[in-house]
Amino acid sequence: MIKGIAASPGIEIGKAYVLKEYPIFIDKNKISGEEIAVEIKKLNQAIAEAKEQLEKIREQAEKEMGTDKAEIFNAHLMMLEDEVFLNEIRDKIKAESIRAEYALTLVVEVYIEMFQNIEDEYLRERAADIKDIGDRLVKNILHIPMQSLANLSAEVIVIAKDLTPSDTAQMDKDFVRAFATEMGGRTSHTAIMARSLEIPAVVGTVDLLSKTHNGDCVIVDGNNGFVYLNPDEQTLQHYVQLREEYQAYLQELKQLKDLPAETKDKARKVELAANIGTPKDCAGALNNGAEGIGLYRTEFLYMDRSELPTEEEQFEAYKAVAEAMAPRSVIIRTLDIGGDKKLPYLEMPEELNPFLGWRAIRMCLDRQDILQTQLRAIMRASAYGKLRIMYPMISNATEIRKANALLQQVKDNLEQQGIPYDRELEVGIMVEIPAAAVIADLLAKEVDFFSIGTNDLIQYTIAVDRMNEHISHLYEPLHPAVLRLIKNVIDASHRAGKWTGMCGEMAGDVTATPILLGLGLDEFSMSAASIPRVKKIIRSLTYQKARDIAQKALKAENAEEIRELSQGEFC
Ligand code: PEP
Ligand code: MG
Repeated sequence: MIKGIAASPGIEIGKAYVLKEYPIFIDKNKISGEEIAVEIKKLNQAIAEAKEQLEKIREQAEKEMGTDKAEIFNAHLMMLEDEVFLNEIRDKIKAESIRAEYALTLVVEVYIEMFQNIEDEYLRERAADIKDIGDRLVKNILHIPMQSLANLSAEVIVIAKDLTPSDTAQMDKDFVRAFATEMGGRTSHTAIMARSLEIPAVVGTVDLLSKTHNGDCVIVDGNNGFVYLNPDEQTLQHYVQLREEYQAYLQELKQLKDLPAETKDKARKVELAANIGTPKDCAGALNNGAEGIGLYRTEFLYMDRSELPTEEEQFEAYKAVAEAMAPRSVIIRTLDIGGDKKLPYLEMPEELNPFLGWRAIRMCLDRQDILQTQLRAIMRASAYGKLRIMYPMISNATEIRKANALLQQVKDNLEQQGIPYDRELEVGIMVEIPAAAVIADLLAKEVDFFSIGTNDLIQYTIAVDRMNEHISHLYEPLHPAVLRLIKNVIDASHRAGKWTGMCGEMAGDVTATPILLGLGLDEFSMSAASIPRVKKIIRSLTYQKARDIAQKALKAENAEEIRELSQGEFC
């Protein structure tokens, strides 16, 4: 058994399809004068083939993953149009009398080094794109086949060092049952892809590639992070059984899709919604029975590009989501950039504590042009479904008033121009700074709803950086201080006749479900795949039982005690 990181849940058993790198031999010998023209022709042909390959990959990526994810291939294509770059290779062949593949490698090396030394992080990362392009051209010149996952004819388990965006974009999703890779962590590209495709995956497995051959029998246990190669009969039977049980569990969850998220005694009904990053994610949300979108992270619209998205581009994205989810509601969070999320084209100050810095609503209130464009796009899209707006990182009432003043200007403007929008559109805030949670009674007067962002609320409350693995044991959603803040927010909103949702990871954490339900949370928003699990727990509890658990949890001394109270209910 090989131990890795459990990146995407589920169990699969199948035949290995190994994505191996072929060795590349670069001929460094000098060539004769007559051969120069031949080499330049080879290079030109390789470029033409690469363009064709990339056009196809881009088309497929656009179809399957959306325009924004396909953007990376545009960058690759642009490099193949860059005559300065290409002429440098041609000149090197001529000047040094060397083969096309050698000249290409030398030029690419110089470019990579140049990009790696650039201060700007975004440009520095482009070195990887140049390497990708260089590899593709060398393989085309030498007629080395590009192994691809595009034309599979049988179900397989993909074994690879790592999966690049072009691998997954081309992948024939009907035939890939699971992934196991040597590289990557829980947030690597492979892991994220596997979770969004809802197929099991294990990443970070040592020496997997050298031990696996095409056709080997492989078990991928994405629940525990185990990979078995050619397992013995006993292990195989054990996993056949486990896979069946897991499938039955998934089936059971599927049955819940159209049932309400209400308690066993029907005394309490809540709303289960999905968090999304792009319009494409709506399909997964609906498949899992989401009753709405509780958090649309709009940052992705602003990333992986070289300038701010236009009002029109944003309008199209928001309209697509509004229409896909109608009549369900969609909460659009205004731009939450800063902290760990940077935009290469936007001048951001170097900060000692970026998480406590110029981010989210703070930046947007300084750069009102950016917020205004976004609000206008949202308001225009609000005519096509049920949209709500939510401001991130609010710490006081003034920020809400300032943002709302801008929103009013946008509305007045649309009114004057006779452009339709939803006049009843609700506006809320994320409660993710402890100060906001403490003064929730004051803020409740300014909003229609709250959504608790526990990812940040926990890190600020306990003073634990959510990205720092050295202190990850202290990052504790069930810390009594966190529970008390959550209770304060819910109670304050209810006293003011408003409602409270939660869109941090805690909303999809089944250990917390009984407590949050008992505290009176109205809406739970999470990654779509978690919805059925949370619903199953809500439907198995009475409201009174959940309230008892919550009451006891509020008096508990530490997270362990709270976890025991909660887990006793459904394990
Ligand atoms: C949160 O902080 O809980 C949240 C949902 O926002 P993000 O994870 O995007 O910071
Ligand atoms: Mg946040």
